[in-house]
Parts: sequence; structure tokens; C-alpha cells
Amino acid sequence: MSSSCSSCSSSSSCSGSCPSVPELTEAQKLSKVKNVIAIMSGKGGVGKSSTTSMLAVSLNRLGYRVGILDADVTGPSIPKIFGLKGKAGAEEHGIIPVKSDGGIKIISLNLMIPNEDDPVIWRGPVISQLVKQFWTDVVWGEIDYLLIDLPPGTGDVPISVMQSMPVDGLVIVTSPQQLANMVVRKAIKMANIYKATFYGLVENMAYVECPDCKKRIEIFGKPAGEQEAAANGIPYLGQLPIDPKLTELSDNGKVEEYHSALFDDIASKVVMRSQQKAPQETV
Ligand code: ADP
Repeated sequence: MSSSCSSCSSSSSCSGSCPSVPELTEAQKLSKVKNVIAIMSGKGGVGKSSTTSMLAVSLNRLGYRVGILDADVTGPSIPKIFGLKGKAGAEEHGIIPVKSDGGIKIISLNLMIPNEDDPVIWRGPVISQLVKQFWTDVVWGEIDYLLIDLPPGTGDVPISVMQSMPVDGLVIVTSPQQLANMVVRKAIKMANIYKATFYGLVENMAYVECPDCKKRIEIFGKPAGEQEAAANGIPYLGQLPIDPKLTELSDNGKVEEYHSALFDDIASKVVMRSQQKAPQETV
């Protein structure tokens, strides 16, 4: 049974050959993805890709098999953050993702084009189709958590992802300087429409810690993520500081060397939330 059956009123008496559910592709038959989590933000630069990457790293360290689907096609940063050099392979059943040093499976347009600096000048529907193929045509194999790094906003690609992929949970990344409330409300509406659970809100760049006196300096103003989350009835996953070490390691493709108890805590909360849904394989 596919996850799209779960919302069907006939699922209990169904033989499993429903014409409205598309046949699985060869790549999907070879994949067992247990949890799909989409990471979204209202605008670029708030640390969505960094959060996706670190969440993947922490989940991987917890012993889970993790994949990242880079749906931020026009601004793909995941391969660079992980320092990936190789290109995605192809075999008779589909596309083979590239593995990070720590074993995280990653697919991104930048792992398919000859030159990673080439701009993507495609229109929305073409990009959406490509992202769908990252789901249908990639041999993901056995994955406990597939994280989807969505482009910022609630445009074509996020809608297409929510419509065509069995997204179990949403994580929203905000920073104190953005209009968090509006973004959070839009994301909640989206989660409700597509029956995804809101796993929670991460507030990135909330403060910087003085390396000498350890005083917290809230350079973008007072963080309000916790109140936003509470006001909108969604879980608050936590606050992250601006850490120059994270920027440096990400810029050098060494994000897997970054350790943060704060990210580990966020990852544990995400695991807890995902376990509250009925266990089932998505593909
Ligand atoms: P987005 O995906 O939202 O566009 P990125 O994750 O690419 O944002 O982050 C934008 C820049 O900010 C990157 O250079 C990244 O390394 C840096 N950055 C993100 N979060 C932090 C943080 N908590 N501390 C330090 N630098 C950060």
C-alpha cells in the first residue's frame, strides 16, 4: 500500500490495484523510504540548507539512514556544504545518489550538470518536473529519513513537492529578522491542505555568543520564535546561534565535522515527532 492510499476512504477493502495510484517506477520498487520531511523557509538566507544539512548529519550520527533531496534547484547548496566531488550515476533502474563521507545519500541538480556554476534558467513547471523525478527515478534504497530542502517561499516547487510526494512532516526555519508570523501561517495552511504533520519551527541565527565573556548578543533583535510557535499551535524545536565555525565548515564542504548539541537535540525532537505517526513505509 502506498502512503497516498492512507487518505482514501476505500483503503480498508482495497485490493491494492487502484487505478488512481500511479504504478511504482523501477527505482521506487528498489527503495524503502520510511519518513519524508520537507524543510521550508519564507525567504532565502535564513539557514534552511544549513539546517537541512545539520539535521541530516545529526540523524546520521544517531544511527539512521539518511538522504537529502535538494529541491532548491535554482540555488542548490547542499553538494557544496558536503564537499561532494562526484556526479550522480545512472543504472538501468534509475539515478544513483552521491554519498557523503558519512554515508548520507544526496541528489541535487548540481550533481548532474557538468559545471556547478552554470545557472539554471528553466521555468517553474520544468523545475517541478525535475524535482518529481528526484523522487520517482532515484534509487534511494533503504532510507529512514529523506529530507527535502525546499526552495524558499510557498511557490511552484513546494506545492508540487507537497502534491506529488508523500511528505510526512514539515520543518520551518525562520530567523529573527524575517516576518516569521506570516511565513509560519502560510506553512501551516500548506501542511493542513496536504495532510502533513508540522514537526516544528527552528529559529536560526537567534543570537551570537561572545567568545570571551559568553554573553548572548541578539543582533537581529529579540527572538520571538517560541512565542510564534505557541501562538500558532506548532512545536518549537529550538534556537540556534550564529556560529562562524558552521559558516567556515559549510563553505569548505566539511559540514560533517561540525558538532552541536543543539542540532542533536533538534534531531531527537524530529525523531520523536516522526515516531508519533503510524509506522509505515512511504515507498
Ligand atoms: P538558505 O538555505 O536559507 O538560503 P543557507 O543555509 O544557505 O540559507 O545559509 C546562508 C549562509 O548563512 C551560508 O553561508 C551559511 O553557512 C550561513 N549560516 C546559516 N546558518 C548559520 C548559523 N547558524 N551560523 C553561522 N552561519 C550560518
